[in-house]
Amino acid sequence: MKYTNYFNILSSIFSGKFTPKVELMKSIIKDIKPFRSISIMVNSVCNLNCWHCDIPEKYKPGGRMLSVNQWIEVIRKLDERLNPALVAVSAREPLMPGATRKKTVKIIQISKELGKIAGIVTNGTYLKNALSEFVSSDIVLDYLDVSLEGPKAIDRKIRGRGHFDKVMAAINDDRLMKITDKFFISFTLNAHNCPIHVMREFIEWMLDTFDEARLAVLVLYPNVNVPEELWLTDEQFLRALELLLSVSHKFADIFIDVFPGSIPGLRDIIETGYLPGDDELIRDKTGMLWGYIDENLYVRYENLRDLTRYQIRVTPEGKLIMPRDLEKEDYRCHAKFAVMSDRLEEMLNKVLKEVDALDRQVNPLCAGQRCLPTCMGDNFRCSFLRRKQ
Ligand code: SF4
Repeated sequence: MKYTNYFNILSSIFSGKFTPKVELMKSIIKDIKPFRSISIMVNSVCNLNCWHCDIPEKYKPGGRMLSVNQWIEVIRKLDERLNPALVAVSAREPLMPGATRKKTVKIIQISKELGKIAGIVTNGTYLKNALSEFVSSDIVLDYLDVSLEGPKAIDRKIRGRGHFDKVMAAINDDRLMKITDKFFISFTLNAHNCPIHVMREFIEWMLDTFDEARLAVLVLYPNVNVPEELWLTDEQFLRALELLLSVSHKFADIFIDVFPGSIPGLRDIIETGYLPGDDELIRDKTGMLWGYIDENLYVRYENLRDLTRYQIRVTPEGKLIMPRDLEKEDYRCHAKFAVMSDRLEEMLNKVLKEVDALDRQVNPLCAGQRCLPTCMGDNFRCSFLRRKQ
């Protein structure tokens, strides 16, 4: 693994071009304020029931969802108070027809008017139908992530019959690349779609299909909502990584997203240099922690502490919620503070106190490990800790 171009390449994330201003970047990193990005769950339902989904199959009903105009007020208030860099509409399905889609389009529109990076993560089922609304609103997203879990037969098993064809209908529509600056296929790497012949077929399909192929590889986040048969082993991850390394120069971008518990051997994999850790990492203006792996191949680490400190999550009812609470069926019981209430400051201060508490809870055995900034002791499958305890 070579890291010689590391700082040059990562600087492109800030500036859009290669600039070797390492000292300047380091000073920017120190000054990153909390709450740099806003993640919005615009509704609480999804039309699919995917095998690997880490959100409950159904949330408990209840609660009055925000209207389009109320979402405008919420975005404006968060912008005035926090001036975040990024607004993302993700979680559940943001392009479902009717009120949900109208809200998504307006949230993106207002966010772009306020100068934010703005993007959507969608399962793609309704994307073709949504194109006209984006085109007529003159919206150009900064990124659009659309889920596919492999070749058609594998995607059908994980996401259901018909999903692949619906995504293909959008991909084949000339309007698609007019509504987004960057288009990513989002692929959740799990024990079912990680065999090398499956990944190789999918990668060949991507390279044949797209002039500029961009892939986001989400390494399965194995929480209580995800069947254990899908959880990845270290060997499965490393074989997939090896394949991605061999093809990354043919892609415009490949991002590998690693979550708490994604890989039991994260510590050892970082120690041996297969993934970057510690001083090889950089934090961008959205609060995201990055590492460079190889040409056009990067890793993004998401741990509970960083998600809590750098990201605000807003429920369909316009309330702030902690990252783990969206994984619960009764998430509404955990979301108590409305963004539009007078108690926003109080809630933000409470969140920062919880981040401090999380720092104090880190297992002392994690101290000094090169994986610490990537995981902050959050890897409940950590094989290193199991060996030591
Ligand atoms: S739990 Fe600790 S040792 Fe294990 S990967 Fe996380 S920071 Fe590293």
